[in-house]
Amino acid sequence: MRIGAMLGDISRSLFKRPVTERYPFERRPTPERLRGQLTFEPSKCTGCKICVRDCPADAIEIVVVDKATKRFVMGFQTGRCAYCAQCVVSCNFDAIGMSHERWELAALSQTPFAVTFGRQEDINAMHDQAAARSAAGPAPVAPPAPATA
Ligand code: SF4
Ligand code: SF4
Repeated sequence: MRIGAMLGDISRSLFKRPVTERYPFERRPTPERLRGQLTFEPSKCTGCKICVRDCPADAIEIVVVDKATKRFVMGFQTGRCAYCAQCVVSCNFDAIGMSHERWELAALSQTPFAVTFGRQEDINAMHDQAAARSAAGPAPVAPPAPATA
């Protein structure tokens, strides 16, 4: 580019509005189809775990606290998720969605990347069950069957 053309571009740019946005100081509404953080409705879940099977990133876990009373907890790793929406498509009961409002998921530590969805009493019950299993120790290994001739 010749110096004259460059100076012309510079002087024109001085009087134009910038095309970039002053994020995060100025924010536009996000598009409704933006794929942000997962949402989970335990009341719609059946515990079938098809979402877990189909997730290519191993980013979700479904814990069945009590199937009869529809007590389910979903663990979600925001840092592992590829935001592909496969789990949303795979769920036949509309129990999983993606929020277009919760998409600013960057963090400076690992802790915010592990999200647990569900009613607080079910999350507490899940932790209690895990603690009871851990206190009971590993399941005893059955002795080998005697060899037959
Ligand atoms: S969220 Fe949907 S696909 Fe996943 S376990 Fe529940 S019902 Fe099944
Ligand atoms: S959006 Fe994709 S990567 Fe993320 S949890 Fe669902 S299936 Fe897994």
